[in-house]
Amino acid sequence: MDRRFTAGEQAFRDEVRDFLKAELDPALADKVRLHQGLTKAEMEGWHARLNARGWLSGNWPERFGGGGWTPIQRHIFEEESALAHAPRIVPFGIAMLGPVLQDFGSKAQQDHWLPRILSGQDWWCQGYSEPGSGSDLASLRTRARREGDHYVVNGQKTWTTLGHYANMIFCLVRSSTEGKKQKGISFLLIDMKSPGVSVRPIVLLDGTAEVNEVFFDAVKVPIGNLVGQENDGWTCAKYLLTHERTNIAGVGFATAALDNLRRVARGQVHRGRPLS
Ligand SMILES: Cc1cc2nc3c(=O)[nH]c(=O)nc-3n(C[C@H](O)[C@H](O)[C@H](O)COP(=O)(O)OP(=O)(O)OC[C@H]3O[C@@H](n4cnc5c(N)ncnc54)[C@H](O)[C@@H]3O)c2cc1C
Repeated sequence: MDRRFTAGEQAFRDEVRDFLKAELDPALADKVRLHQGLTKAEMEGWHARLNARGWLSGNWPERFGGGGWTPIQRHIFEEESALAHAPRIVPFGIAMLGPVLQDFGSKAQQDHWLPRILSGQDWWCQGYSEPGSGSDLASLRTRARREGDHYVVNGQKTWTTLGHYANMIFCLVRSSTEGKKQKGISFLLIDMKSPGVSVRPIVLLDGTAEVNEVFFDAVKVPIGNLVGQENDGWTCAKYLLTHERTNIAGVGFATAALDNLRRVARGQVHRGRPLS
């Protein structure tokens, strides 16, 4: 197996480097390098720059406005981004919901939601975990009852990352209690501004509050916001998780971190800066 990069891949790496040099504000890179929390505006700003270059959705297929990147291109982009201390792309819309809508959404859902992810019009968060339903996710109890042309949702989600910034949440809800527990789950898109939705921050040991609890009290959700089939949301949920986990793995970022560690060990660098 030939593990060398092709000339085209090297050229892509140069393109990414040039872009980062031109577009990444050194003050923002410094915040990332020092692991300081970014503001919502800083995250949105970086998304907008990537989107203008067509690289926010590099991993999406071209027919959905993506770059159609190969896994090698994706790796190169991540590695160079990490070496330059660029912010990571907030994954909820781009890396999680986007692929689900592309595979399971209706044409109307794709046409409506996908462009809004790219433009930043919608900030998504993930409503999977519940108190008591983490590893055993299929035991979730947030209930969706069908009433005419909408669902009525009651329950609670937890550990909702950046939920306080989001205007939309994709949620796993229990739409049936019959049969195997995985069979009665549906995948719903819920507007966080709907009456009955409330968000409460969870303050962590370091004093920050990046994760939240989200409560649903008789929240009305149009049936048009159901993705896939009713009671078959588990299929969407698992598909999303394959994208979530490969994204979280951050191989490019881990490679760059290891590289940095090697240079620290050799005394060449400290906190991402050459030793003077
Ligand atoms: C920083 C952070 C951000 C998160 N963001 C989100 C988010 O945005 N949206 C969202 O939905 N969720 C989010 N989560 C939740 C995350 O996905 C859950 O933490 C995860 O599913 C595990 O659930 P739990 O924390 O309830 O742990 P538990 O399920 O209680 O597990 C605790 C420990 O017990 C072990 N364990 C559990 N069951 C068994 C078993 N049967 N046998 C042996 N060992 C077992 C587990 O491996 C684990 O080590 C986030 C979590 C973190 C830490």
